[in-house]
Amino acid sequence: MSFSSFGLSPFLLQALAEMNYERPYPIQEIAIPAILTGKDVLGIAPTGSGKTASYVLPVLTQLSMSKGETRNRHIQSLILVPTRELAIQVEEVFKTFARSFPNPLKVKAVYGGVSINPQMKAMMGVAVLIATPGRLIELAESNAVHLSAVKSVVLDEADKLLNLGFQEEMQRIIGWLPEKRQNLLFSATLNDKVSEVKQILLRDPLVLKIETEADSVELIQQTAYRVSDARKGPLLRYLIRSRKMKQVLVFTSSTFKADQVVEKLRKNNIDAQAIHSKKSQDARNKVLRNFKAGHLKVLVATDLISRGIDIEFLPFVINYELPRSPKDYVHRIGRTGRAESTGEALTFVTPEDEHHFKIIQKKMGKQVPFEETDGLDLNGY
Ligand code: AMP
Repeated sequence: MSFSSFGLSPFLLQALAEMNYERPYPIQEIAIPAILTGKDVLGIAPTGSGKTASYVLPVLTQLSMSKGETRNRHIQSLILVPTRELAIQVEEVFKTFARSFPNPLKVKAVYGGVSINPQMKAMMGVAVLIATPGRLIELAESNAVHLSAVKSVVLDEADKLLNLGFQEEMQRIIGWLPEKRQNLLFSATLNDKVSEVKQILLRDPLVLKIETEADSVELIQQTAYRVSDARKGPLLRYLIRSRKMKQVLVFTSSTFKADQVVEKLRKNNIDAQAIHSKKSQDARNKVLRNFKAGHLKVLVATDLISRGIDIEFLPFVINYELPRSPKDYVHRIGRTGRAESTGEALTFVTPEDEHHFKIIQKKMGKQVPFEETDGLDLNGY
C-alpha cells in the first residue's frame, strides 16, 4: 500500500516524498482512509507507532478541501494533548505538512506555564489549535478562541490526559463543541477511564489497536542483578532453582559463551541446549521444537533467535550477557510477556556493563530496578 492510494491532498503527497516517508505505517493504513470518510476512530497506539501522522494527514486534507471557513477566532480542528512537550511536537508535525499548501493553514499550540497574552493575540485566523486542557479553557472563557465551528477533535494520549486528572476539563471542553463533528481518540492503553471517554465522545467508531514492542515491554517485569563475571554461572543456577523455573531462555552474546553456559548447566544436572549460528539448521530446528514442546528446560541462545520467534507462555528470559544494541535487548525480552501474558526478564549486569545498561534503559524509556547479589550465598550452586 502507498500513501497515494488514500486520497490525501497532492500537496501532502509531495511533502511525504520529500520527508522520505516511503510507506504508511500499519496505523496509518487503517486510520487515514477511515478518517477521510468522516468516521470516528479509537486508536490504541503508543508513541512511535506513527499515530501523529495518522490523524494529521487526513485532518489537513479535509481542511484544505473546505474553502475559506476559518472565521476569526473560530478554530476548525482541535487537538487536546496532556503536556506542553506533546503540544510542541504535534504542532511541529502539523506545521511541517501544512507548509506544503499554497495557502498555508494557520497552526498554533497553546499550553500553560507561559504568559497567556501572546497566545490570545495569536488566535486570529488559527485553523488548527493544539492545546492542553487548562490553557484552552482560559482562552475560551476569555473569548480569545471559539469552539463552535470545530469540525474535528482529537484527544491524543488520552490515557495520560486522564491520569493527569484532566477529566473534568475535558468534559467541559467537549460540551462547548458543536454536535456535528468528527471525534478521534488516541491512547497508548485502553483502561476503564479511556473506555468511559470513548462512550461519551465517540459515535460508532472504528477501533484499531497497534501492538508495538514498547507495548509489550510494559507487560514484562524486569530486574537487573549486579554481579561479577565469575559469579554469573552460580547466580544463573541459583535463580533457575530458587525461582523454580520450568522453562527459561538464556541469552549470551557469543556462540562460544552459549556453549560454555550449556556445558556448565549440564554438569550441574540442569537440562540445557544451545542454539546459535554455528549449529546446523537441522540442529537448530530440533532444539527449538523440543523447547517449544516443553521437553527442554533451558535454551541458551545468541541474538540469532531474539527476533521473530514466538514461544507461547515463556515465563522467563535471562540476559546472561548484555546485547550490544538496545534494540536487541527489547527483542530479547520481548520473547516473554507476549499476547498480554506477563513475563519476567532478568538481566546480569557486571560493573563493566553499568554504563551500557544505562544507555539501554534510556533507549527503552524504562528504568529497571536493581538487586544486589554480593551478599547472596551461592555456595553449592
Ligand atoms: P509518532 O508515533 O507519531 O510519534 O511517530 C513516530 C516517528 O515515526 C516520527 O518520528 C515520525 O516522523 C515517523 N513516521 C511516522 N510515519 C512514518 C512513515 N510512514 N514513514 C517513516 N517515518 C514515519
